[in-house]
Amino acid sequence: MIPLSQALDLVLNTAKPLNPEHIDIEQALGRVLAENVTSDIDMPPFNKALMDGYACNKSDIANPLPIVETISAGHPPTKALGPNQCSKIMTGAMLPKGANCVFMVEYSREVSSNKVLFTGKNTNDNISYQGQLVKKGEQVLKKGCLIKPQHIGVLATVGHVKPLVYRQPKVGIIATGDELVAPNEKPQISQIRDSNSLQLLAQTRQVGAIPTYYGIIKDDKKALEEEIDTALKENDLVILSGGVSMGDLDLVSDILSQKCGGLLFDRVQIKPGKPTVFGTYQNKYCFGLPGNPVSAFVIFTLLVKPFLYKLMRHDYQPSDVKMNLPTSINNKKADRERWIPVLVQDSCPIPLRYQGSSHIDALSYADGLISIPTNVQSLPKGTTVDVRSI
Ligand code: AMP
Ligand code: MG
Repeated sequence: MIPLSQALDLVLNTAKPLNPEHIDIEQALGRVLAENVTSDIDMPPFNKALMDGYACNKSDIANPLPIVETISAGHPPTKALGPNQCSKIMTGAMLPKGANCVFMVEYSREVSSNKVLFTGKNTNDNISYQGQLVKKGEQVLKKGCLIKPQHIGVLATVGHVKPLVYRQPKVGIIATGDELVAPNEKPQISQIRDSNSLQLLAQTRQVGAIPTYYGIIKDDKKALEEEIDTALKENDLVILSGGVSMGDLDLVSDILSQKCGGLLFDRVQIKPGKPTVFGTYQNKYCFGLPGNPVSAFVIFTLLVKPFLYKLMRHDYQPSDVKMNLPTSINNKKADRERWIPVLVQDSCPIPLRYQGSSHIDALSYADGLISIPTNVQSLPKGTTVDVRSI
């Protein structure tokens, strides 16, 4: 049995990054950039008015100014300003030569036909100068960036419509257990529905990997071996749930161990999720997760998710938030690192009543997870904890 931190190091050090590919910008959400991106233009590309108003020379601002033309966005000015002249200008339009400020239409009055007077006390320049935000050739996005909608905006601005990103890992998901039936079936006596697989599929998608469901496989050595072989051929990673504890029909650890020529670990010092196994086969990977749905969820969050990001070369750092416990938590049996679902209310993490690792319902009210280190038998009220958002 190894501590969680060591298990995480092992899976991260084992993950060999996948190759990059060019994709269409419209498919880029959630992918990881495999290149630094630079701007092909100055931003803004011209001196630009930031307000609707009048462009003039600031030294003329006390005088009534004749309006020489109206400049709207997308239409370049046709006249340079002489002394004591102005142009009416719209937000986003190009500044005329001779102007160094735009006073806002809100602080102006037309004093006679085609003459305007500034009525404010003073004014900002209200100009964004060419290249002020980004210069042509400057880096705008960094390799390893996990692409969010705001990054797509940047890619579009610099015309980078075929970004190079890392390939998405393909993940085969297998449920194991004689007691399982598909979610669309009514469980008969001593049966339960397979909830892990769809949960794992969803978690996999959330990370930006591509899951395939291989169905429910009985606790049968040959059937399991065949399905694992098939899934390994077709995927980068195979995730099994169930069959990794100490029961007579818990066959997954042995099968994976044989297939992988040994496992990198077969027990993790964590609660829930102790019977977690991990191995590699050629350039493929296998996780065997505990069958209990909360355990499977927690282990995916703590180990599989960082692993998948590593395959995509994203330097994933969980965005934990520090909060103070509103109540104390007892942890009598502190032989393993414990992870507890919490509901966050008024910036306080409230531990959820949670009856063991099959209590999937507790997770559906949880906003995050907190941990209690090994050998720590209680966390007093007011303790600052890191809340991992889920
Ligand atoms: P196991 O790890 O196979 O010993 O399973 C531990 C517990 O998790 C048992 O109560 C199983 O019935 C349950 N379980 C196993 N697989 C699943 C699954 N795919 N969905 C929901 N519960 C499961
Ligand atoms: Mg089982």
